[in-house]
Amino acid sequence: MMKKTLTALTLSLGLVLSFSSYAKNNVVVVATGGTIAGAGASSTNSATYTAAKVPVDDLLNAVPQIKDLANVRGVQALQVASESITDKELLSLARQVNDLVKKPDVNGVVITHGTDTLEETAFFLNLVVHTDKPIVLVGSMRPSTALSADGPLNLYSAVALAADDSAKGKGTFILMNDSIFAARDVSKTINLHTNAFVSQWGALGTLIEGKSYWFRQSVKRFNNRSEFNIENIKGDALPLVQIVYGSGNMLPDAYTAYAKAGAKAIIHAGTGNGSVAKNIVPTLNQLQQQGVQIIRSSRVPQGFVLRNAEQPDDKYGWVVAHDLNPQKAKLLAALALTKTKDAKEIQRMFWEY
Ligand code: ASP
Repeated sequence: MMKKTLTALTLSLGLVLSFSSYAKNNVVVVATGGTIAGAGASSTNSATYTAAKVPVDDLLNAVPQIKDLANVRGVQALQVASESITDKELLSLARQVNDLVKKPDVNGVVITHGTDTLEETAFFLNLVVHTDKPIVLVGSMRPSTALSADGPLNLYSAVALAADDSAKGKGTFILMNDSIFAARDVSKTINLHTNAFVSQWGALGTLIEGKSYWFRQSVKRFNNRSEFNIENIKGDALPLVQIVYGSGNMLPDAYTAYAKAGAKAIIHAGTGNGSVAKNIVPTLNQLQQQGVQIIRSSRVPQGFVLRNAEQPDDKYGWVVAHDLNPQKAKLLAALALTKTKDAKEIQRMFWEY
């Protein structure tokens, strides 16, 4: 009798174990275009091609191995080169991803996207989608038709990450070239090679043969911990923020022109520590007094802008972008402006995200 019960127990335990190791997570791949969906005239065209050509089902069919990782379905949200993404597409994508992560039968979302503004879309989703489910953005540097195309393995790894329960609650990611990056501090730093994405603080982990290996976690606010929420943002446009690139021998005209065009904040992509040339300071102060937020970022890709160094930010009522590069500072500033016009409050947000 005892032996029979034990055998039955072992059998059912075995069944449960084998079912749970067999049950796969559900991942939705949202395609938006970019080089990962690009096509060139020949296999040797690794850099000359047309982006955003291949539909999502073809992308998925090209990597049948993803079916071993998860139950995957594709959605074609956009078919564009990412440099042409405007607030309208960004907001609509965020709403679509938000709807997906709210569904109980979706465990993770992958977004295939052009690499040019991959970091911007990733950071935006990181700020406005409240979820602990993994959101993974992925692209490729070579089109699908090129020799040694990097898209298929990147897509395979992105699906593996989105299906991985260990990625839950760790934020929004960019998966490129086997590396798992935090959306907030990764940036495209090389325009031609497959190791294009770099974070000055390092990758969060690495993804090898479909398995994630983690090494660090972000201490900043993201997703569930964010005070911004796509559900509270109405319309098709964010408050207008523009970037002015700093250099020697600058004219102040670009700042005034952007303010005239309706910019509510200007990101100064300054030299060094977000430095401002002395002939530009009066223009920035005048704009600040008119209610335009002046945010000092840097054109230098590493380090961070130290407040009240080189310029008296407290005295002028300016904001520093901390370690956010100008394009990420632009998005955080736009979201901040949906909530406040107070420079001190905006500065708090730049420390926290
Ligand atoms: N211009 C392309 C894009 O961002 C480049 C790429 O995907 O790598 O859509």
